[in-house]
Amino acid sequence: MAKRDYYEVLGVSKGASAAEIKKAYRKKAIEFHPDKNPNNKEAEAKFKEAAEAYEVLSDENKKARYDQFGHQAFENGGGGFGGGGMNMEDIFSQFGDIFGGGFGGGFSGFGGGGQRRAKGSNLRIRVRLTLEEVANGVEKKVKVKRKVQAPGTTYKTCSTCNGSGQVTRIANTILGRMQTSAPCNVCGGSGQMIDKKPSDADAQGLKVAEETVSIKIPAGVVDGMQLKVSGKGNEAPGNGISGDLIVVIEEADHDKLQREGDNLHYDLYVSFPEAVLGTSKEIDTVSGKVRIKVEAGVQSGKILRLRGKGIPSINGYGKGDLLVHVNVWTPKTLNKQQKEFFEAMQNDEHFIPKPESSDKSFFEKVKDMFS
Ligand code: ZN
Repeated sequence: MAKRDYYEVLGVSKGASAAEIKKAYRKKAIEFHPDKNPNNKEAEAKFKEAAEAYEVLSDENKKARYDQFGHQAFENGGGGFGGGGMNMEDIFSQFGDIFGGGFGGGFSGFGGGGQRRAKGSNLRIRVRLTLEEVANGVEKKVKVKRKVQAPGTTYKTCSTCNGSGQVTRIANTILGRMQTSAPCNVCGGSGQMIDKKPSDADAQGLKVAEETVSIKIPAGVVDGMQLKVSGKGNEAPGNGISGDLIVVIEEADHDKLQREGDNLHYDLYVSFPEAVLGTSKEIDTVSGKVRIKVEAGVQSGKILRLRGKGIPSINGYGKGDLLVHVNVWTPKTLNKQQKEFFEAMQNDEHFIPKPESSDKSFFEKVKDMFS
């Protein structure tokens, strides 16, 4: 595959100054940085391409050779990246120069060289909550098996990198001495090694221990939501940072209440006489039972709205409502006497449906529910 012209890659003219080249590369490096383009092979290729172009054009000696001979100047193993281009470690080690030490601006992980603190892995647990717990918030104590530093484990400074976490290699090439630095592969870049460890610890000086972790779950969480308890995942060896405990929320079904966002629905059944004469009924809510009044002459399908008896918003303001759906139970079997009674009522004017404007249509009621 033919390489693109390095000036073209950085978008600068052949007469560009060192400052202009640096500025152009900085722009490209930010644009195609892997942290900003996760799992994007095209961005990664462009990121490497820009780094390679900068590696040459920022070096007076290499730039002069490139200007004279083009890409041929670095072929046949001459330039250190004749193979698959530069690797990521080389590129990130360049950044100390470009971004002036600490590589800020929201990128993670790659400082201008130096130690890397090992990070323990995250742990995931599922926590099942009742609807009442979701509505009111709850503190759950869960047993977690996590790796912790085994008591008695001690660490010493890595003798290969002298604790810096980096090893520097100097290679003599036809272009002169080239210096590259990479994380120390003896200590994994942490700068520390195990000195002593008890026999029950693993190679990193860790062992599994069961711990009770208290998790405060706010009101209003939703099934599938993930909460993070910082530092309660696996510990890392030495001065490393503990991983996190990821808590995945599961919501148990309630046998009477159905959740829809922050609102709750309840199906209330009343008998035919109760609908005709009016009644009061005890219903379940997430804060205990409440008694509600059902007016005489209530229609099947009526929705009684109990304001604020739903689920609090996870954002901390507002609460949903409890919507009680009235269902009039029509008897399916009647004795002779009852049958005669209803037959006698068949043409009675009180039994003929006369929808009033207050008995809203189904469409209007649905509209109300979502307003
Ligand atoms: Zn080391």
